[in-house]
Formats: sequence, C-alpha cells, structure tokens
Amino acid sequence: MSAARLEDLAKALGFQESAQDILGRLRTVYAQIDQRLAEGAQGLQLPCKAGCDACCHEAVFVCAPEFLAVAEQVMAWPQDRQDRLLHQMLQVASDFEDELELLELVDSGPERDEVARRIRFRCPLLSAEGGCTVYSARELNARTFGQSRHEGFDAPYGCELTHAALKVLPQRPALYGAQQARRALVQALERTERVQVYPWWFARYRSAFEDGPRASRASRPRE
Ligand code: SF4
Repeated sequence: MSAARLEDLAKALGFQESAQDILGRLRTVYAQIDQRLAEGAQGLQLPCKAGCDACCHEAVFVCAPEFLAVAEQVMAWPQDRQDRLLHQMLQVASDFEDELELLELVDSGPERDEVARRIRFRCPLLSAEGGCTVYSARELNARTFGQSRHEGFDAPYGCELTHAALKVLPQRPALYGAQQARRALVQALERTERVQVYPWWFARYRSAFEDGPRASRASRPRE
C-alpha cells in the first residue's frame, strides 16, 4: 500500500520516473557523497556523531527528491504515528506561514537568508531522545553540516562545534566541499531547484500521509 502511495506522491511532485528509480539514484549519490565526506574528515574526530542534533533546530532546506526519500520512510510508519508527525509539521507551517510564503517569492540572496534565519523550530522528525527518526534518508544538508567546508568562505560548513574543533588544528583540513556535494546531487537528479523546509513540503503534500482512499491521495497539493 505504501509503495502505491509513494508512486502517487512522486507523480504529484512532478516526476516522470518511478519513485524507486528516483530513490535508487538518490541513494547512489548519497553513498558517493558520504564516502567523500568520510575521506575528508578521516582522523579529525569531528564532533558530528549520532546523538548530536545541533543541525535539527533551524530551517533545513530540502528539494523534492530529498523529501520523497523521507516520505518513503514515514509512509512505512503506523498511521497514528504519521498523523502525529503531520500534525506537528502543519503546526510549524502555520507558525511560520508568512515566512514560508516569502520564501516562495524571494530569490536566493541576503533577503532570503534573512527570512530563513527567522524560521527556527525543532525538527518534528527528531525523536524525543534526540535521534533522527529517518536517519538513513536524512537530507544532504544533514550529511554535509559540520562534515564539509563552505567553498565560498573556505571554512567549515555550518556547525559551530566543528568550527571550534578545527580552529585549534595547525593545518587547514581538506574537507569535502558542501557546494560540491550539492552540485553532485543536482547533476544526478531532476527537480532539485526548488528547496523548502520540511513543514512546507508536508503541508503542501499532506494528503499523501492522510488516511483515506488512495484515489484522492497526493493527487494535487493543497494550497
Ligand atoms: S530530518 Fe533528521 S537530520 Fe534532518 S533536521 Fe530533521 S531530525 Fe535532523
């Protein structure tokens, strides 16, 4: 049943290919990126490890294939758990309704960055214990945050804990580039141009997670 729901969602997201084809390619590119990240961070003992949720309390942006991967995992949950997650996502989307609308209108740049900074929330996909409930499908930013370098600033990407840890090293480490990882994702998959936060995706495609006849599910986003 969830396989059919996932295919409906892939169509609603505008993909021509099957959900499994898209997710297969996404898993391949994630594996390549994870490998490059691990090589770059080898021996550095970065603070980024299981149990740290430093990157899960702010606006995390994902594209359609990244959302589809998370949706696949969520759809395998019992319906009452999906309902609770959806309720939390809709609440965050409502709390930041103005900001999420603005993000749809403003191109990337300082103004968009300022709007994104105002959107701060605890990711509803984070468990009560502080672990990611969709860890194997987590988005690219979660993989690169604190594990890569920002090519524009030639500094660690994202995590303040990683900044502090690397500041004391005598030599600048050769971390994998965060933008290089993003380019690899964009080259491997379609529909990566639009990025939004998880609550926006869940609110827009909420019918994919709601109980009810499949025929009406994910057929079109609710505005
Ligand atoms: S999906 Fe997982 S890794 Fe990403 S922000 Fe949410 S809890 Fe954190």
